[in-house]
Amino acid sequence: MSAVVYLGIDVGGTGIKAAIVDERGNILRHAETPTGASEGAARVLERIRRLGRGLIEQAGAQVVACGVGAPGRIDHRRGHVIFGSGNLPGWTGVDLRAELHRAFGLPVLVDNDANAAALGEAWVGAARGASDFLLVTLGTGVGGALTVNGRLWRGARYGAGEVGHMALYPGGEPCPCGGVGCAERYVSAKALTRRANEELGSGKPFRGIREVISAVEQASGPRRAAALRGVERWTADLALFLLNLQMAFDPQMIVVGGGIVNLGYWWDRMVQAASQACRARSTSIRLKRAQLGPDAGVVGAARLAMLYRPGYSPAAGGSARSTSPS
Ligand SMILES: [Zn+2]
Repeated sequence: MSAVVYLGIDVGGTGIKAAIVDERGNILRHAETPTGASEGAARVLERIRRLGRGLIEQAGAQVVACGVGAPGRIDHRRGHVIFGSGNLPGWTGVDLRAELHRAFGLPVLVDNDANAAALGEAWVGAARGASDFLLVTLGTGVGGALTVNGRLWRGARYGAGEVGHMALYPGGEPCPCGGVGCAERYVSAKALTRRANEELGSGKPFRGIREVISAVEQASGPRRAAALRGVERWTADLALFLLNLQMAFDPQMIVVGGGIVNLGYWWDRMVQAASQACRARSTSIRLKRAQLGPDAGVVGAARLAMLYRPGYSPAAGGSARSTSPS
């Protein structure tokens, strides 16, 4: 076992995950709890504290720092939430670093959840060796992170990579962010279930992406037809979305994450559709499935903690230079 380990925490709209991770990216211990987002930020924070404390007690090695990936626009230098995600009510303005530093007695580094996942994939996942790549995660929402010259590109207002709120359909469906027609409403994993249920009309609704995909692969009759149409519409929207990102950034690769990428047959079709659309514009696209699966967030958060540099003082607020992991 490593002499020193890191605590990585991934705060999602549905679940909070935490892990003790060693210096090579191995998860030594893992814990998870539902977010209970609708109960408000204070309750969510309490769950994060409890989960983290439990793992620190069981770590069996010195935990030297904690990294946190959380949704929304995050000031990674100060460790607080500038603008919360629509999936986590009351999250705006939460000083995550101060709250968790108090709870754990460790240096705490905070970043956007997709940024953390990108750090994980770049460290021990699909983007190993890539200096310029885009990570897109398809979950309850759609997250994105951009890495340029081997460093995260966070943008002038910490908003870079918020690709889920690019408009895909002008005048389209309203989004919790306040916009309309956001990509997230059409290409998230949640959107796939909604699409399939729209196609189904009446009958017992699909309860999640697993049910939709397995209906295409195993069901018959109207249920299968509805699931198939739902997947096709969703896949076409996703291909269009990825084409737009390719045209904007021309990265070495786009890594696509979220539990859905390992489910079923749609991936190859989507890659084909996106490749065709790119060829028509005289360019090409390289799409890769994320490799760390649901662990990308916690592993990347631990990486964020590992990149913490001596001289950083959580209490004093830290300086830009000492708290800017790449
Ligand atoms: Zn939006």
